Amino acid sequence: MAEEKKYDLTKMQDPYAEKRYISDAEKENSKFGKLVFEFPMEDNEVVADGDPADYVVHPQAYFRGARQIPGAEFNQSYQIFVKPFFLDRVQHRHPKDEYLIFLGASFPNVFDFDAHIEFTIGKDEEAETFIIDKPTIIRIPAGVYHCPLNFKEVNKPVLFLASLMMPMFGGMYDMPDGSTVEMYYNGPLPCKYNENKRCDSCGACLKEDWTDK
Ligand SMILES: [Zn+2]
Repeated sequence: MAEEKKYDLTKMQDPYAEKRYISDAEKENSKFGKLVFEFPMEDNEVVADGDPADYVVHPQAYFRGARQIPGAEFNQSYQIFVKPFFLDRVQHRHPKDEYLIFLGASFPNVFDFDAHIEFTIGKDEEAETFIIDKPTIIRIPAGVYHCPLNFKEVNKPVLFLASLMMPMFGGMYDMPDGSTVEMYYNGPLPCKYNENKRCDSCGACLKEDWTDK
């Protein structure tokens, strides 16, 4: 029997609502209100090849960069992995640096770590695969190929943060058919300017400045 989902986002009230500590009206009179943002709840929708979605704790938090705090040059995921999962299968590069952070999620001790994760940096004959079995941070310089990323053994929960120094997540992906595709992803949230439309990563909100009214 399928495991019951802990959080049914379809039943939550306005789960993807963009939240701010101050209202739009208050923002008009506030210089710094655009810099303070409350995380909306998100549910990971990227599950490949019929894998179960329960490898990660639901819901997750993501900082979606400039769509949330205008002008931000950074986005970050906050996911807790509780089961083995082959997360990232396609080799890719980003136009800016990325940092991948692996910590124990048996809080409060982030050094309580018991997992075996395999991660590759570089492509073809240059490729090197690293075993992550302790708290680790990895820098991926702009333009450097990386992945696959495979959470092979997860004996204790792992907190995984992917921190990309860009206003929106994305990069160049080498597809199995040999093509290279530039893809961006801003989460399953509605468009910032049209709540009836799902975000299609058009980038319009990236042009906002935090000092704009
Ligand atoms: Zn990456």
